Amino acid sequence: MKRSLLIKPMMNDHYPTVTHGNGIYLYDTTGKKYIDGSSGAVTASIGHRVPEIIKAMDEQANKVSFVYRSQFTSEPAEMLARKLNELVDADEDYWSFFVNSGSEATETAMKIAIQHWQEQGNYRKNKILSRWISYHGITLGALSMSGHVKRRERFVPLLEEYPSVSAPYCYRCPFNQTYPDCHLFCASDLEVAIQRIGTEHIAAFIAEPIVGAAGGVIVPPEGYYKKIKDICDQHHILFIADEVMTGIGRTGKMFGMDHWDVKPDIIALGKGMSAGYTAIAATLVSEKVMTPILKGSGSIMSGHTYSANPQSAAVALAVLDYIEKHRLIEKVKDNGDYLLGKLKALALTTDIIGDVRGKGLMIGIEFVADPTTKRSFTPETELTSKIVEKARDKGLLIYPASTGNEGVNGDAVILSPPFVITKEEIDQLVVLFEETISEIQSEIS
Ligand code: PMP
Repeated sequence: MKRSLLIKPMMNDHYPTVTHGNGIYLYDTTGKKYIDGSSGAVTASIGHRVPEIIKAMDEQANKVSFVYRSQFTSEPAEMLARKLNELVDADEDYWSFFVNSGSEATETAMKIAIQHWQEQGNYRKNKILSRWISYHGITLGALSMSGHVKRRERFVPLLEEYPSVSAPYCYRCPFNQTYPDCHLFCASDLEVAIQRIGTEHIAAFIAEPIVGAAGGVIVPPEGYYKKIKDICDQHHILFIADEVMTGIGRTGKMFGMDHWDVKPDIIALGKGMSAGYTAIAATLVSEKVMTPILKGSGSIMSGHTYSANPQSAAVALAVLDYIEKHRLIEKVKDNGDYLLGKLKALALTTDIIGDVRGKGLMIGIEFVADPTTKRSFTPETELTSKIVEKARDKGLLIYPASTGNEGVNGDAVILSPPFVITKEEIDQLVVLFEETISEIQSEIS
């Protein structure tokens, strides 16, 4: 066999090569079939090889695939911006800036927030606050905002300071409190950080509605985001919601923040926006944030060659149509409740499962060496990798995450199958997951 020259996340021989996909299934060159139990990286939300999307791709490719954004706009890009504004469904309009990845979307959000204040003469308001236990992307600006030790450590000298606000991580409350007696100390922690740093230096606060990869799905307690938004408003700080993982139906609402009825000033989208059919992401910006920019420079100081290309926009539009037409968000809620119930039942009989949590089809499972003390496994156990590999061998793909324990070190995985999964397929997924955990448990004990 020819030597592979592809740099991969895991440079080992057991790396399968995909041939094709269909619905919730993927197939490799050996003919092996996998349940896509995590929609790749929580991305392929409508499943693989959906004819309507392929048709839309083909139709657009037959018109024009690429135009440069400073020379042309296009119908699909204009329609997509209008559609996203409709979906945000706020009292004010939201403008769209299209990019190619979640990292670009959060980094653009950061730059727009800073520009918003500069256009009003506030040149010192240029810090972005964020939380411990968070992931906002891999490019240097996005990584600067991310509370993810492992992903930061090699690049620390190039990054801004570490994030400064605690995460709303009830399973391991950073304040040793219990909800609701805690009075949401985790939200007040933002106020503490603002007082320490000074509101005159802060442009925005960024948070994932539900923490994904860095925390193994951390769902905040009720009232958390209302309090966060109030604190931001009182201190003249913009609130950026990183909906790259939670957006476009994944949690059983169009946007994760819809669970708490909070409208952010800026929204970053990615992943599920095109369900993996093309590279597209977006930064949505409220009229309030845009107004000083439109009156000042007139446009934002950012952009990429592929921004707003008609091909990707047409695909994202087709995905949104498909989700609407097949009422998939209702299905997410129903399927999510079913899967969560099954996993919670499994946790009751499995010592190494410490917590099962999530909303819709974004479910995290946190593993512990001791369920009473919640002690994590040592990093040397490499539990998450072992679980992910064993599941893959059995034909189930799951997403490796970490937890917030001891600075993003604990073990967790995310189950986030495509929205179109059936109840029977969920049953199959759970059987494979259960077998995986049971075998791993015997192997490490
Ligand atoms: N933000 C969040 C919440 C994410 O989950 C991710 C990807 N895991 C990103 C940003 C970065 O997105 P991308 O990998 O497309 O750059």
